Amino acid sequence: MLTDRINTLSESITIAISTLATELKAQGKDIISFSAGEPDFDTPQVIKDAAIAAINEGFTKYTAVDGIPALKTAIANKLKRENGLTYAPNQIITNNGAKHSLFNLFAATIQKGDEVIIPSPYWVTYPELVSYFGGSVVEIETHDDNEFKITPEQLKKALTFKTKMLVLTSPSNPTGSVYSRTELEEIGKILEGTNIIVASDEMYEKLIYDGEFTSAAAVSDDMFKRTVTINGLSKSVAMTGWRFGYMASHNTELIQATKKLQSQSTSNINSITQKAAIPGLDGSADAEIEKMRVAFKERRDEAVRLINAIDGLSVYKPNGAFYLFVNIKEISNDSMQFCKDLLEKKGVAVVPGVGFGSEGYFRFSFATDIDSIHKGIKRIEEFVKELK
Ligand code: PLP
Repeated sequence: MLTDRINTLSESITIAISTLATELKAQGKDIISFSAGEPDFDTPQVIKDAAIAAINEGFTKYTAVDGIPALKTAIANKLKRENGLTYAPNQIITNNGAKHSLFNLFAATIQKGDEVIIPSPYWVTYPELVSYFGGSVVEIETHDDNEFKITPEQLKKALTFKTKMLVLTSPSNPTGSVYSRTELEEIGKILEGTNIIVASDEMYEKLIYDGEFTSAAAVSDDMFKRTVTINGLSKSVAMTGWRFGYMASHNTELIQATKKLQSQSTSNINSITQKAAIPGLDGSADAEIEKMRVAFKERRDEAVRLINAIDGLSVYKPNGAFYLFVNIKEISNDSMQFCKDLLEKKGVAVVPGVGFGSEGYFRFSFATDIDSIHKGIKRIEEFVKELK
């Protein structure tokens, strides 16, 4: 009954862990979860107020497929002000979350025979979508000793005449690493003279703890032309449930193509969300966003300190996002088993690295209160001691 295409998709490995965590919780066990991919903070009030006003004003009908003009202007202004990128409204489209932006982008650009370079560890959705649309995934392995970043040499080696796209995620899920301007410039130089698209996923842009954030499209004119900038408000403004994302590209033909696809699939994104997103983009929520960032930074510092003090574990201190990618190679090369045992024996849920394409690690999300971080890491320490 099912198509070959749908059968290429696999269920997320994180689901195995969260299902087990839910079962154990239902049995009354005391479970601490570090598996969340979303902020534990509430959406800022100024955004909620804009949504309530939209409902009361009756802003509840279909809108333009690519988004209302005021929202697209807010995105264009944000990209100019914060990222140094100049996009016209017809170079921008809003989608139902950045995941949907990526779905539309891959649908419009990837087909059988195309190779897509994805640095590993990666966010699981990328390889799934590439395979779904018939493309081939070319992984570039990265490790903690290089801050989980690809080098220009690695990129050069991975290029073939079939390479269609390079996916960059900075700050990264699951490692939190952030590419500097110089590193992006070097990547850009390797791609010069090719038609390769760079898909730059900038979802965690506002969650930077050390150094600065640079958009891939901002490093050169050549990179601006080849890069599709993907962003949203889920992570940096605590709006995961609202479903808002967008993509921007110099290539208006590409934006038009994804608009056509969206017009025949989901139409516009939720009208209320569109009104609510504006204060998330125009600076009105900046004080709230900064409060969250400061809290995340404190948690990162504390979690990194405590984990690095555990004999047998080590973790690279990330500059962004809200994840730690913890190295367990001294203890185990089976991250799935490690995570299952940790959950069953100590009631701590973390996600196995193998789910992100990197064995010998687990992902620890610090989008959790500081008391849970203290209590949970203590349990991890006991677990590791018992294993040694
Ligand atoms: N990109 C990255 C790297 C992510 O981690 C996520 C969410 O987990 C997304 C995109 C998708 O975010 P959303 O669809 O909520 O906008």
